[in-house]
Amino acid sequence: MPEDHIIRLRNHSPSGEKRGNTSWVQCGSCDGWFHATEDIVSRGTVKLHCNHCHTEFLPGQARKIVLA
Ligand SMILES: [Zn+2]
Repeated sequence: MPEDHIIRLRNHSPSGEKRGNTSWVQCGSCDGWFHATEDIVSRGTVKLHCNHCHTEFLPGQARKIVLA
């Protein structure tokens, strides 16, 4: 899966004390943002559910993904 639409925000927390496990996903249909776990995003085979327009799509079809 191409990952050029995935943005990683991991520029600090060297000790890894609370590894970020939250991702932001931008819906390809309505451009709304919602949360998803990084586990689901990185697996790539589980459909995401947009809170705004209720579209379901795979992570590879998201407009943008931010891993925080
Ligand atoms: Zn949507």
